[in-house]
Amino acid sequence: MPDSIYLDFAASTPLDSRVKLAMEATLGLPGNPSSIHGPGRVLRSAIDRARASVARLLGVPEEEIIFTSGATEANTLALQGVIRAVKKSHPDKPVSIAISGIEHASLMECARLMEVDGEVSINIILADKNGIVTADAVVDAIKENTVIVAVMWANNVLGTIQPVAEIGRLVEAERARRNAGGLPIVFVCDAVQAIRTEAVHPTEVGADLLTLSAHKIYGPKGVGALRIAGSAPFLPPVGGGGQEGGRRHGTENAAGIAGFGVAADILLVEREAERTRTANLKQNFIDKLRKQIPSVRLVPETSEIFASLLPGIVFIRLPKISGDEAVLRLDVAGFAVSAGSACDTGARRSPRVLAQVLDEQAALRGGIRVSFGRSTTDENLEMLTEELVKI
Ligand code: PMP
Repeated sequence: MPDSIYLDFAASTPLDSRVKLAMEATLGLPGNPSSIHGPGRVLRSAIDRARASVARLLGVPEEEIIFTSGATEANTLALQGVIRAVKKSHPDKPVSIAISGIEHASLMECARLMEVDGEVSINIILADKNGIVTADAVVDAIKENTVIVAVMWANNVLGTIQPVAEIGRLVEAERARRNAGGLPIVFVCDAVQAIRTEAVHPTEVGADLLTLSAHKIYGPKGVGALRIAGSAPFLPPVGGGGQEGGRRHGTENAAGIAGFGVAADILLVEREAERTRTANLKQNFIDKLRKQIPSVRLVPETSEIFASLLPGIVFIRLPKISGDEAVLRLDVAGFAVSAGSACDTGARRSPRVLAQVLDEQAALRGGIRVSFGRSTTDENLEMLTEELVKI
């Protein structure tokens, strides 16, 4: 099968060759990073270097970063770790989580499981018709017993950037309003998609816990990070050998983490220029698309919110066929795109995110998510447009 044109960067980015080199250099090394002998110390320092890199990318102290097996684990750890700490300090109080309706399945399903187990109640904050979780909707969702507000930095299906700074201020104000000794409240923010093109500084927006995934920034799959503010309540739900400052136990994936660190270093240097290039690609693509297929619909449609969309994601509804059909036909024609979130598509779940921005019929028909990055060219997107004209 000839190589397809890869336009699914939001599902996973290709491994950067510089990252691969760093991983290979670590992969063959003997030892356990927790051992105090020489080989162990070599691995430990590789992990520490990577921690410094991820901390620099986010502008936070190194000790606030812990490595995980990906963003799914980081998101789960964030919710479970905060709830466990709150339950310990306030054993008899029922608590709730306010979570946006457009969160990735890893946060949404974790919250739902905790609700089923009777640990928390959940309050879902629906997005508006533009796929934005407004500050007003967040205000309405925060109750006296809300201890977590979970809203992602940018959505993985539509590419909508959320008003995280406003949300952070709301959480901060609610924290200040509660009496000393009252329930804590934290802001959990999934920045997995945003970080590829946006500057993500959790302290500037008050995101107490924030998650990342290496394979969305040209690093390896199966490695993630969780930032936990020093002040945030957190007790790990899993016990073990005390790694990651006792917050995430288990022998670290040293080669994967080393790769993540290099990916973070490269991102910090190259992101700004790449953002501009990607935004131009997107504008050219949309102009051509609208010209050649006037009946095409973008989601969200409104051009005023163009600036609050990630430059690397375009969600398109096609006049004649459903999203799933389009993905299959494009695959045959040599283009890799997605019908939404790769995770949701595999499970054939109802299109939860689309249902908040489209009417029922349109949500069921769906559309395609075209996402692009470092290796994408205008020509790739022109070829895709030509193919879309045919279908
Ligand atoms: N959050 C978002 C917004 C994502 O897009 C993804 C990946 N699809 C995840 C979390 C999960 O990341 P990982 O694949 O590292 O578990």
